Amino acid sequence: MNKAGFSGKPQNPSNDPGDDIPVALRVTPDVAPKINLRLQVLLIGGVVGFILLALISGFLFFVTAPKKTADSQPSTSTESGSSVNSQSNNNDAVLGHLVYPEAPQSELVPITADRRIRMRKTAAEKFRAMTQAARSAGVILVPISGFRSVKEQEQLFFNVGAQRNQTPAERAALSAPPGHSEHHTGYAVDVGDGAVPVTNLQANFDNTKAYKWLQANAARFGFEMSFPKNNIQGVSYEPWHWRFVGDRDSLEMFYKARNLKPARSGQ
Ligand SMILES: [Zn+2]
Repeated sequence: MNKAGFSGKPQNPSNDPGDDIPVALRVTPDVAPKINLRLQVLLIGGVVGFILLALISGFLFFVTAPKKTADSQPSTSTESGSSVNSQSNNNDAVLGHLVYPEAPQSELVPITADRRIRMRKTAAEKFRAMTQAARSAGVILVPISGFRSVKEQEQLFFNVGAQRNQTPAERAALSAPPGHSEHHTGYAVDVGDGAVPVTNLQANFDNTKAYKWLQANAARFGFEMSFPKNNIQGVSYEPWHWRFVGDRDSLEMFYKARNLKPARSGQ
């Protein structure tokens, strides 16, 4: 029984497991709050962080969103601006030269005996009358160039330009790019003085009797100089180049085109 008493004693240690329970119980509540605290800190931190992130990203979106529309607005306005430009054909001028349509072949008649140089009927008629009037005043007006097709102008512009080692800008100062020459219309004519052919297509043509006579009389026949000094198009001074503006079609041809803003209006 002592054994039982002993066993009772050792039961005390066997009761230790009983003691262990509270210890274990004590341990678990001790650890649990620690874990809970960490979890809570993590959870709160996470939630707060999430809310902060959401707030920041929301704020950033709100701030940047209007900026995007502001950026897109100018791009759409430039698109509409360029379409307006293309509609008004303002950008069709090349190196100061405006666009001109080619005269129909049926409208062209020769103004020289060899039939090499041609102009539109009305312009040709007036040019002949002008030449006769000049001759009766002792002045010999010689046509050098009249109607030119776009193909001929292309050859003139690029081939002659290359032969003379000229850049397009240099060439454009003396000759219009293809599609942009008044000679395409059949209304323009380059005039020389038969007495001094050395001045043909030269600025000093303005020293000749022919030029002086033209200055005084050409308007009576419906002709005017296209490129006087400091002309609005910025094309080089061409005292030899005259155009017919003596009927409705020719007037509209040049003055409707002139209403477009020239590329080099500053000069
Ligand atoms: Zn010309």
